[in-house]
Amino acid sequence: MAGFDVDLFVIGAGSGGVRAARIAAGYGARVMVAEEFRVGGTCVIRGCVPKKLYVYASRFAEDFEDAAGYGWTLPSKPVFDWRKLVDAKEKEITRLSAIYNTNLEKAGVQIVLSRAEVENEHTVRLLADGRRITAKYILVATGGSPALEPPIPGMEHAISSNEIFDLKEFPKRLLVIGGGYIAVEFASVFVRLGSAVTQVFRADNVLRGFDGDMRVGLSDAMKHAGVDLRPGLLPSKIEKTAAGLRVSLSDGAMSEVDQVLAATGRHAHTKGLGLEKAGVELKANGAVKVNWASRSNIESIYAVGDVTDRINLTPVAIREGHAFADNVFGGKDIHVDHKDVASAVFTTPEIGTVGISEEEARTNCDVVDIYKSSFRPMKATLSGRNERTIMKIVVNAKTDRVLGVHILGHEAGEMAQLLGIAVKMGAKKADFDGTMALHPSASEELVTMRTRTARYER
Ligand code: NDP
Repeated sequence: MAGFDVDLFVIGAGSGGVRAARIAAGYGARVMVAEEFRVGGTCVIRGCVPKKLYVYASRFAEDFEDAAGYGWTLPSKPVFDWRKLVDAKEKEITRLSAIYNTNLEKAGVQIVLSRAEVENEHTVRLLADGRRITAKYILVATGGSPALEPPIPGMEHAISSNEIFDLKEFPKRLLVIGGGYIAVEFASVFVRLGSAVTQVFRADNVLRGFDGDMRVGLSDAMKHAGVDLRPGLLPSKIEKTAAGLRVSLSDGAMSEVDQVLAATGRHAHTKGLGLEKAGVELKANGAVKVNWASRSNIESIYAVGDVTDRINLTPVAIREGHAFADNVFGGKDIHVDHKDVASAVFTTPEIGTVGISEEEARTNCDVVDIYKSSFRPMKATLSGRNERTIMKIVVNAKTDRVLGVHILGHEAGEMAQLLGIAVKMGAKKADFDGTMALHPSASEELVTMRTRTARYER
């Protein structure tokens, strides 16, 4: 591929970009990757990884309480130190970022710490030093950035998930705006770390699009944990005061807090990237429009991950990046399958899910069988904790195929990953029934739900 400075220029060293760069280099391509913030991207630096570390931190609160039922007496009341957690998290993500760097270097990828913008279909400009690099292919892997919504006076005082990890002071009073993944996860973390958390959102319940029983079960658990959930409510104004922030709410109420977290979705990160100038077609929401092969309408420009707004999850970006490199540099013909992607919401308790919800099945299938179980997890017997685990299997009654499995409970994410294999293989309810239970476990419930809870016909 002579005539170009490099064979592949990747913009963004996050999950998708790093994977694509390494695999392409493995095929002998000359690859350069530009990153304007920190190598590792949202997932490693200010997303999934630090979030999960904070989730672990938050769960000790209940572990300390639950221990009493199992015979433990703590010598004194446990004390949480926010700064220690932030520092420990920082050390870990710095270690991970360095590993990403090393892996790229080992693969022979050139890393440039600079913002890069597209000039035309084969040229990228590095803002740090003004250099222009020509590339046979350009891969846009710039991810997304938080949207601060709604556009009310004083929104500039709110923070996003980018800032919450590194707050200098622990927010004793936190107002969360939004009812999606990020909102429920942080509300769940901060209430356990000791914040008074209020969560406001415009819908009638959290997690729009999730299975209805999971939404109800989670909001009950969140209220029980102390989150002040306020559906159908949004802030109308945020003012800075000597004591913190005063938030006016749409019902006329007032809330005094230390921080306001806007968790109201993320936008594809394409602003100012020069894509329109290069002729790249974008969707109405700014995401790059791509075909099955992650190629844009411009032959030499591809995009993977959140910037394409397909399924905005790290493993999906990695798979897309890998397939791109395999196809373009390895001569393969790999189609990424976006169906039945398992996912989890790392609240406490977690939600783990794969396949479609009951609501979606009832809209799309002629006859749907529902198998549902709600029980007190075994650990709660001696701890006395008032909690429920909910499991649901959604079945196409005509074919017996399992269309979706939804779990609210401990380790639901871990279960969903494994259930993903069965659902992807086309498992039938009879396969679940024919599987021997593992006792005592929560997941055994999934293979012992013999009696249908409901049947719905269209
Ligand atoms: P989500 O799309 O999940 O949720 C956005 C929330 O903000 C919804 O409650 C939505 O309300 C509300 N909202 C959107 N626009 C407005 C507005 N203008 N005014 C008021 N409310 C508004 O986004 P998140 O920010 O929580 O997360 C972004 C993405 O990150 C997720 O979609 C997911 O792909 C990924 N993610 C995945 C995680 C995981 O896998 N565990 C964890 C964290 C993030 P409504 O429902 O009414 O539209």
